[in-house]
Amino acid sequence: QAFQALGLPPAILRALAEKNYTNPTPIQQQAIPLVLAGRDVLGGAQTGTGKTAAFGLPLLGRLAGATPPSGPRKPRALVLVPTRELAVQVNESLRGYGRHLRMHTGMIFGGVGMGPQVDLLRRGVDILVATPGRLIDHLERGSVKLDAIEILVLDEADRMLDMGFLPAIKRIVAKVPAKRQTLLFSATFEPRIRGLAMEFLRNPAEVEV
Ligand code: AMP
Repeated sequence: QAFQALGLPPAILRALAEKNYTNPTPIQQQAIPLVLAGRDVLGGAQTGTGKTAAFGLPLLGRLAGATPPSGPRKPRALVLVPTRELAVQVNESLRGYGRHLRMHTGMIFGGVGMGPQVDLLRRGVDILVATPGRLIDHLERGSVKLDAIEILVLDEADRMLDMGFLPAIKRIVAKVPAKRQTLLFSATFEPRIRGLAMEFLRNPAEVEV
């Protein structure tokens, strides 16, 4: 099964060919068609399995295939990650996979000044990669609106819970439209992750590697 068979648009296949990705990894094989079909997905995968592309490629494909709302550019996809390091990685990956699409991707995380991030958000992004605490700061000062989010991703959800981000995640999800697609990735499906999935996902398909 090649990438061509999974239903991704040509502009994304071209970016993959340029990166010399020949075949999808098992988690990509399973998740990509489900996400493209609009399903919520509960994904069990560790770093190194290709999980970023498993949600990133179909996320880009769906955004590219839908007309953005008119008016100023607001985030249409939100990827929550536990750490600054992961934010950098995910942002880089999404930019690479989307390089032939007209999609603006940006990231925000704590430990650095708010100013440049406020500027970034004012210029507008289609895809926002964020750590939960800093995103709350921006919501409180009104520098970002989440009312145009179509796709929400919780990446490394188990680590976000370990880091005490559950209250922040709940506050963030409350600002995201209920009519959305939600993807949750975690290394394990322990009870607290199942609880999170019950709360935030609708009839999720489960994929695990
Ligand atoms: P991740 O699990 O998302 O952290 O990805 C692990 C590494 O595998 C990253 O360096 C990706 O660029 C790379 N990668 C992801 N999917 C593929 C693929 N289908 N073929 C080759 N490399 C890949």
